[in-house]
Amino acid sequence: MNQSRSSRQVPFVDLSCQYASIQKEIDDAISHVIHDGWFVGGKEVAAFERNYAQYTGVKYCLGCANGSDALEIALEGIGVGPNDEVIVPAMSWIATSGAVGRVGAHVVFVDILPGKFTIDPQDIVRKITHRTKAIIVVHLYGRPAEMDEILEIARENNLLVIEDAAQAHGALYKGKPVGSLGHVGIFSFYPSKNLGSFGDAGCIVSNDGDLITKCRWIANNGQPERNVHLIEGRNSRMDAIQAAVLNVKLRHLPLWIAQRSQKARYYIDALGELPIELPSMDKHSEHAFHLFIVLLDNRDHVQQYLTECGVQTQIHYPSALPMLKPYGLSSDEYPVAKMLAERCISLPFYPEIPENDMDHVIDQLKHIV
Ligand SMILES: *Cc1c(COP(=O)(O)O)cnc(C)c1O
Repeated sequence: MNQSRSSRQVPFVDLSCQYASIQKEIDDAISHVIHDGWFVGGKEVAAFERNYAQYTGVKYCLGCANGSDALEIALEGIGVGPNDEVIVPAMSWIATSGAVGRVGAHVVFVDILPGKFTIDPQDIVRKITHRTKAIIVVHLYGRPAEMDEILEIARENNLLVIEDAAQAHGALYKGKPVGSLGHVGIFSFYPSKNLGSFGDAGCIVSNDGDLITKCRWIANNGQPERNVHLIEGRNSRMDAIQAAVLNVKLRHLPLWIAQRSQKARYYIDALGELPIELPSMDKHSEHAFHLFIVLLDNRDHVQQYLTECGVQTQIHYPSALPMLKPYGLSSDEYPVAKMLAERCISLPFYPEIPENDMDHVIDQLKHIV
């Protein structure tokens, strides 16, 4: 390895460029909250809920503390509990399946589609029982799942559909924002997501006003107004500083999604000749490219080489969900999720990533693959 290769560092993600591009707007918004002195809920959060509902094309949005809570509260809100089964894709972040267990219901895993990596509608049909209550769909990596088929299966079997859109802000399915297609959707605003706060935050979106009202009570200790407690709830409120940051960032989100798409194309064009599997796209939907994932043989060896060349990569995720300790299932029933876990690697990727950095990644990949 020559000197220039080893000295160049390409970070997996760099959040500082985004802050630098909107520093004054962000600093003013945060300072405003500090002077106002209202730190939890309040005007900023209400404004964000209106803005994000509009962005997502739904009637209602409830800001809460993080995406994991959003899922748990949404499940509780639609009445999922002990004795219910909830269908979950075998590949996602553990928060997706964890929320099901947290409300006392039983997780039923379903494999993902080859090439698309979202939940396999035919495998959903095979796993439905008289106890199945809901399906959680994950728009994994920012790619919309096969919503028409899934919604049809849900209709036929009287099931509710929850969209885990934590990785898919800005993704469109047949022209409609993800999160607005099922009965209820959730988003995470963890700092590195497509829309990220300066800490933890999340939200629930739906056109069902009664559901959002119930979720609002759950997330605020069962309290519709001060000293009135209708149910036992919990605290999962959104901070005003996070809402203020998100209100500023939401104005820029369409540009950042367009940059993600353009940078993804840059990688795809440059890597097309290599024997690796690149992200595929559907004509009818728009991928939001939260992550840029490729599949290749000898993944661990390639990752090691890239690390030595100063290229930071990640694995999303090294194990399919059913094989994780809380579930302890065998991989036999989930061959696609298992294959993905063994072969995927996430390349450095964010809206502002310099083309020079991408060129370095591309050169090293060409060398090793
Ligand atoms: C990030 C993420 C979540 C959880 O969001 P947090 O805000 O980190 O709790 C849930 N599901 C998926 C698919 C995610 O990527």
